[in-house]
Amino acid sequence: MELIDNFKHKGLRKKLVDTIRLKGITDEKVLAAIEKVPRHLFLDNVFLEFAAYEDKPFEIGAGQTISQPFTVAYQSYLLDVQKNEKVLEIGTGSGYQTCVLLELGAKVFSIERQKALYTKTKELLPKMGYKTQLFYGDGYKGLPNYAPYDKILVTAGAPYIPQDLISQLKIGGFMVIPVGEGKTQIMTTLFKKSETEIEKNELDTFRFVPLLEDKNWKNNA
Ligand code: SAH
Repeated sequence: MELIDNFKHKGLRKKLVDTIRLKGITDEKVLAAIEKVPRHLFLDNVFLEFAAYEDKPFEIGAGQTISQPFTVAYQSYLLDVQKNEKVLEIGTGSGYQTCVLLELGAKVFSIERQKALYTKTKELLPKMGYKTQLFYGDGYKGLPNYAPYDKILVTAGAPYIPQDLISQLKIGGFMVIPVGEGKTQIMTTLFKKSETEIEKNELDTFRFVPLLEDKNWKNNA
């Protein structure tokens, strides 16, 4: 596949940004990042070349989805990424959200549990010029070897907040995680005030694919 990003794609991206702005995201840094990332390149279905810029999620294979741009913008806004911050992302999927975080200047470490998606995204991102660290593993365990993180972003619906992720957050660090056992989740933010104190805030309802638990995983690197 040739990686073409032409004026038509760029124009559609501007319109997408307008749509997201109208839906209430006013963080200019986030909007600029959305405007930069060529979302159509994450959908290898030629029929979706232009549909990629509608504010919709899409199937990306292995029963998984590329998040809706509004959701990506909203989670990125909540995460309030500063340049050079270390961010752990759970659920790499297509890598679209990963690239938005990279455009915001973060150093991103991202975990995906589906081998096929992991492999595909690991090949695609460098071709697009994005440098990041992708891992095949279980998001529930995080990545202890690179901890602590300034921020942690979970992009799948979690039945509960995994303790390992709280442990790997810096004091003063921040987590954004959709929490819920059923079909919908409550977008939740978590501020680590001290080793023992957590401040939790519950926001709007969303619908994510589930963060799957697999008891047979060995520990992540
Ligand atoms: N950020 C992605 C959204 C992908 S959907 C994007 O922008 O495209 C959520 C992803 O989480 C899926 O790819 C799914 O396979 C992955 N996932 C589910 N459970 C997981 C787990 N326990 N550890 C790591 N990834 C997981």
